[in-house]
Amino acid sequence: MSSIVIPCSGCRTDNPTPAQQLLSRPRCQRCQQALTATTPLEVTREALDGVLRDSPIPVLLLFYSQWNAPSTMVAPVLAEVAKRHAGRLLVLRINSDMNPDVMKRHSATPLPALLLFRGGSERKRLHGAHSTVELEKLLSDSGVVR
Ligand SMILES: [Zn+2]
Repeated sequence: MSSIVIPCSGCRTDNPTPAQQLLSRPRCQRCQQALTATTPLEVTREALDGVLRDSPIPVLLLFYSQWNAPSTMVAPVLAEVAKRHAGRLLVLRINSDMNPDVMKRHSATPLPALLLFRGGSERKRLHGAHSTVELEKLLSDSGVVR
C-alpha cells in the first residue's frame, strides 16, 4: 500500500493518501480542504518502495537519526525546501535507527543522507548537513525546479 499520511493544514486530520493521487488534487476526508504536503513527511518502510515507484512528482528522501547532530542541522533546511516546493516535490524522511535494513539497501551512510528520486530511480544524493542554497542547487541541477 503506497500511501503517505498528509496532515490537513486546516483541521489537522491525518489523511492517508495514495502516492498516485498526489497530483489529482486530494482533499481532506474530514473538512474537504485541499491537501498539500508542506512539511517533510515521515514514511514507513512498508510504504517507501511503493511511494517511490508511484509518485508522479520527484521525491526527496532524508535518512536521519535523532542521535546524529548533522541530521538535526539539516531538518530546518528540509522543512524550508518542502514548504517552498509544496505540490511539486514530495519531501519524505525515514528514521535510520528504526529502519537499518532500508538504510543499508540504499547505502545511506554517512548520515544524514538526502536522496532524490524521479520515476522510481535515484538521480542524485547528498550526505551530511547542507545549506538551503546547496539543496536548491541539487534540485535545479536535476531539473526538479527552475
Ligand atoms: Zn481537514
